[in-house]
Amino acid sequence: MSILETKEISKQYPGTLALNQVSVSFESGKINALVGKNGSGKSTLVNIFSGAVKQTSGQFFLDGKELSFSSPEDAQNHGVATVYQELSLIPGLTVAENIFIGRLPVKGFSIDWKKTYKMAQDLLDELGIDISPKEVISNLTAWQCQMVEIAKAMSHNPKILQLDEPTSSLAQNEVESLFKIIRNLKKKNVIIIYITHKLQELSQIADNVTVLRDGKLIGVREIAGLPHQELINMMFGNVEIKSRPADLKYSDEVILDVRHISDGRKVKDASFQLHKGEVLGIAGMLGSGRTELLSCIFGAQQAISGEISFQGKKIEKPTPTKMNNLGMAMTQEDRKRIGLNLNGTIGQNLCYASLNRLGNSFIVDRAKEKQFINRQINDLAIKVSSTDYQVSSLSGGNQQKVVVGNWLNIEPQVILFDEPSRGIDVNAKQQIFKIVWDQAARGVSSVIVSTELEELIEVCHRIVIMRGGKTYETVLPEEITIEKLYSMCMGE
Ligand code: ADP
Repeated sequence: MSILETKEISKQYPGTLALNQVSVSFESGKINALVGKNGSGKSTLVNIFSGAVKQTSGQFFLDGKELSFSSPEDAQNHGVATVYQELSLIPGLTVAENIFIGRLPVKGFSIDWKKTYKMAQDLLDELGIDISPKEVISNLTAWQCQMVEIAKAMSHNPKILQLDEPTSSLAQNEVESLFKIIRNLKKKNVIIIYITHKLQELSQIADNVTVLRDGKLIGVREIAGLPHQELINMMFGNVEIKSRPADLKYSDEVILDVRHISDGRKVKDASFQLHKGEVLGIAGMLGSGRTELLSCIFGAQQAISGEISFQGKKIEKPTPTKMNNLGMAMTQEDRKRIGLNLNGTIGQNLCYASLNRLGNSFIVDRAKEKQFINRQINDLAIKVSSTDYQVSSLSGGNQQKVVVGNWLNIEPQVILFDEPSRGIDVNAKQQIFKIVWDQAARGVSSVIVSTELEELIEVCHRIVIMRGGKTYETVLPEEITIEKLYSMCMGE
């Protein structure tokens, strides 16, 4: 038996303690599930084991020997294999080539294909995976690719195998086939860490579960006999929910009417109505198509069917420019990549969306620009000593305010928020929500997508449930519990 142990591991990011003195152990011969709501620190722990992130303090040991990795390659060479949600296979190559890429056996000056296919076949047989090593990846389904990923990871003879949400894009019958393979791995002397947000999977696949919350270890439990409610309580704790102001009412007027939107991929059939001054939440798990739905509405990606009406007018082929001109804003989840120009100043970042209101491509009205910048700095209480500093010098919370301020400068009627509180601290979250409520009081409507369900209960007037690309019932926060909302998003 092998054992992986951590001793008081902490990881401090600027403004966030992602892991807080976590001491936990994982044994081989078992499937050790790792769960926790979004932001609880699961990925950070996995990334420390996989050499992608270095802990701030604390240690971890494999069979009593301390491990320390300089890079993911270093971790891999020391027996840590990680299968991430995003698959890493090369579509044009065969299964065998993908498994042994970079290590293909050679004979003389050329690749020994016979040996390659034999090695791959032996490995696949041993793992019980019924896929030909000569098959080209692009001919395989998502579930088969996931199996090849596992085979590839196992080909390194790892001592630790981390599986990060391996079933997130699979259908139910495919999940069962994958589980068979994973259960098979228990016979090997490998420590398996299985991250999931699908709690109903735990009884099918895991032997025990480790729960993290806000970077802390809450506990480890055997799955057998563990009441669902206990697990939910461990994950969510006694959530104190601060509600939106009671006097914040929305009108009957429908400002955005979204009907039967499909993008042919993640979004299958999504509909909702947003009223003037309303804060509407869209609740769903990762991969439920929420982000893609917002992108279709804003025109950042094209819907293939469905209808969108904004301010009573049907919108043909929305594009971000068109929607911006009509008074719609969208803040994206990955603000560092899309929402902000990190090389730009705070002032510049506050004016990107409103450039066409500040003049033309030759002349910018500097006085007006200054006014636009100052308005947001004051209204949103963005703490800066100079707006000429680079936006990257700000904390996560203040950066998010800049993203929002940039859009408020277009004086939008509707703001689409994709995971607005991702990566910011509790205090900053409250400030962002206050901005949303202040805007709502002025008649500006918001749609908020968030995986943090208690956040939606706290902030929104109504919550639409989205699952597998489709919208289902709409619920009222005052009539629902976090546990019930969670179950509805999971389709339990
Ligand atoms: P989980 O995997 O459970 O969703 P994470 O480990 O991704 O949680 O995140 C834990 C906390 O650390 C979150 O508050 C997250 O915003 C923060 N965090 C994660 N990665 C970074 C990073 N690179 N920089 C700053 N904060 C981060």
